[in-house]
Amino acid sequence: MDRKHEHDEPADAFAGFRTAFKSFATEAIHVGQEPEQWKSMAVVPPISLSTTFKQHGPGNHAGFEYSRSGNPTRQCLEKAVAALDGAKYSLALASGLAATVTITHMLKAGDGIVCMDDVYGGTNRYFQRIATELGLQVSFADCTKPELLKAELKANTRLVWIETPTNPTMKVVDIQACSDLIHEHNKDIVVVVDNTFMSAYFQRPLACGADICMYSATKYMNGHSDVVMGLVSTNREDLNERLKFLQNALGCVPSPFDCFLVNRGLKTLHLRMDRHFKNAMASAKFLEADPRVERVIFPGLPSHPQHEVMKRQCTGCPGMITFYIKGKLEHATAFLSNLKMFAIAESLGGYESLAEHPAIMTHASVPEKERNLLGISDTLIRLSVGLEDEADIIEDLEQALEAAHPKKQ
Ligand SMILES: *Cc1c(COP(=O)(O)O)cnc(C)c1O
Repeated sequence: MDRKHEHDEPADAFAGFRTAFKSFATEAIHVGQEPEQWKSMAVVPPISLSTTFKQHGPGNHAGFEYSRSGNPTRQCLEKAVAALDGAKYSLALASGLAATVTITHMLKAGDGIVCMDDVYGGTNRYFQRIATELGLQVSFADCTKPELLKAELKANTRLVWIETPTNPTMKVVDIQACSDLIHEHNKDIVVVVDNTFMSAYFQRPLACGADICMYSATKYMNGHSDVVMGLVSTNREDLNERLKFLQNALGCVPSPFDCFLVNRGLKTLHLRMDRHFKNAMASAKFLEADPRVERVIFPGLPSHPQHEVMKRQCTGCPGMITFYIKGKLEHATAFLSNLKMFAIAESLGGYESLAEHPAIMTHASVPEKERNLLGISDTLIRLSVGLEDEADIIEDLEQALEAAHPKKQ
């Protein structure tokens, strides 16, 4: 295959995956960043802190009025993100959840939402505990099985929320198959894909039939674990108009400083994601071969149930690995407590390697019964493999496994 990726080993990590999106790196570096837009000809977009903008005469302005409605630094970021999503429009919001709330505000009481059964905990909490209180009808379906999704589509369904791969069990949804099925039922249903885990570099939901692509930019898109932000992209003018109205009317906007940081983070997205994939592939292979590990769930491995969908739909895999350690809770705890380089922490997608215990940490709010149904057991461990040296990552995993399960007792 004609790969555009530059990487060393393992040379076969990208084999069989879709070819990288054309001119991705060039667009990440240049779109929306034109020096000519500034009087100073600044090559790096300035952080524009002014909340208000002088008008030539009443209502006669140069494109900006008030910083909630539009901000120059935010606009640079939004243009770059639109290009990277292969979208006409993109909007930046104050957090991933602010993006979810803003999108959901397109609906009104009585409308229905169908949500993937395994989604980010905050998305689940918002739909179940807040959206339903406002009169929206929310139901859940395992979208890896199209017939289950189809059964949930009702006359009042206005929005379908898909996340792929899911967190933490890494179920992969065929976006094109779901979008086709949903739009066949009713072309006006808005299909949203939470693309947080993949980033724009590995997956383009809009090209697979989705109407909206959203992110928690807090994760890979920013990639430096120092900003909380959300992003929403679409090709549909009507949706963009509505979302832009809501961005201003609800007011969930990010600060210019955070926009500057995420805009900067995007400049290295392609380099970071290639390295995340390489390090994660090596870690997944190491774990899968180790007798102290029960099972590894990594969409880049042929053992993943939806590996073929992943290869067809994506250009690579992010650094997220889930695995079951052999034994009981105490073995999982021993593994995590003995990691030296990996930090035990929530969140993901930054340059640093993180490890966590979903049942105790990120997914503690999911009732035990549901956790069991989803496979979130006491021996499940989630890794966000960072950008450190591959040998050091493997060494840390190896010594923590040894601490949990000493070879000689
Ligand atoms: C973190 C996360 C969110 C929420 O984003 P915030 O920026 O924390 O508000 C939504 N979806 C996924 C998949 C996430 O990982």
